[in-house]
Amino acid sequence: MDKDLLAHILQYTSIMDLSELLSCGWSLADAGISQWRAPAALRERQRRALITQFRHALATVPFYRRQYQAAGLDENSIQTLGDLAKLPRVSRDDIQGNPDLFLTTLWRLGDPSEWYESHTSGSMGKPLQTWFDPECWWQVKYALKARALLAAGIAPYHRVAIVDDVPSEDLERHTSSMALWGEQAFGGRRYLSVFDSPESHAETYARFRPHAIYCFPSYFLELSRFWNAALRRQVPLRALITSGETLPDAARRQLEETFGVPVIDVYGNTEVKDIAWRCRSGHGYHVNMESVLVEILDADGRPAANGKPGEVLVTALTNRAMPLIRYATEDIAVRLPGECPCGRGLERLAMIQGRIADYLPIPAHGNLSPYNLTTALSTHQAVMHFQITLRAGERLEAAVVLRPDAKPDALQSVEQILRQRIGPGFPVKVSAVASIPRDASGKHRAIRVIHPGVEVAA
Ligand SMILES: [Zn+2]
Repeated sequence: MDKDLLAHILQYTSIMDLSELLSCGWSLADAGISQWRAPAALRERQRRALITQFRHALATVPFYRRQYQAAGLDENSIQTLGDLAKLPRVSRDDIQGNPDLFLTTLWRLGDPSEWYESHTSGSMGKPLQTWFDPECWWQVKYALKARALLAAGIAPYHRVAIVDDVPSEDLERHTSSMALWGEQAFGGRRYLSVFDSPESHAETYARFRPHAIYCFPSYFLELSRFWNAALRRQVPLRALITSGETLPDAARRQLEETFGVPVIDVYGNTEVKDIAWRCRSGHGYHVNMESVLVEILDADGRPAANGKPGEVLVTALTNRAMPLIRYATEDIAVRLPGECPCGRGLERLAMIQGRIADYLPIPAHGNLSPYNLTTALSTHQAVMHFQITLRAGERLEAAVVLRPDAKPDALQSVEQILRQRIGPGFPVKVSAVASIPRDASGKHRAIRVIHPGVEVAA
């Protein structure tokens, strides 16, 4: 047996009691096996999980009890996945208004002090807190994450460098407060701050020799400039793992060329954790159907047709501590039809566009979906990275990082595409830049809307 693996198993067995160990082992085995089941079997599993979660919420979660009773629903109201449409949606504001109403009153799940807490950084406005019961936490934070990593060729005993959106002076406190499980103890983990220069990370990589590095896509675009021949030789990299920002196709191809490894993008949020991960086959993102039910809805609130973009609503199927049912993520995605060549039965999404809150006030359109613009640039052959700034009533500006092999007329082509999308009579200015500045959360925003005096992230 690999001695690293043995050391980690021993480390784990020393920090967990038997029931935790069994629960984790079960989650991991379940995640490993169920991904290969037929789509119909996975949907049936979701249907049964939905009925259980609905009844649990109706009986023990004050927010849902009040809403569902007011809507005349009883415990038999949900029988099929289609019945989900009977339930009202939940917004971020609903939760922030009174988060305690979303917690189960059923303490049988264990002592709430043993629940796991997860919260947003608040970069998108008010921070949001979510609670998970231990069993769900092990499934979503460990088993399902481990499955996505394994699919990318990263085993639990491989070394992973995690570049976090925490200032370097807070890193120690941040990581020591992490649950031991899955964060620190399992496999080698090294934390770095995204706010430090990628150049300063090179030395850590040379010493730590990670098999995978985890960060926002834009970080790797910056790191590319320092990824020299010596690092390539020293670091036994197997994959880059990205999340938190839209990953344009051109950027992914560029990263795969520069680092010589696949880029595995993970789509998720703080409220339900990982929702889907990009299949190595290159045919979309597999949904973690065991823990989350994804709906893609059109503008009228009906299921969007396959291949058509729509709003993402998620239902947490296993979190009993704080069940989120039909939670509006404010993301846009596309559902892919058919099965993946990799053989997994897990359903697939494509083109996940982060955080699309508002429509853009552009005269010729009244309001234009930001998706219209971000898709155009995300799929452009030459665009690795971009930021669109709409100065309301004035002009649209696009700052673009081009691929090194971009054709000389690439900027013109970007400008032309944007002009076509927004229509005549509104000035467009496109400029090439070396990098896009980060906002306070450490991320890059794809679209900013600046009204005179106010700035809104879209
Ligand atoms: Zn696949």
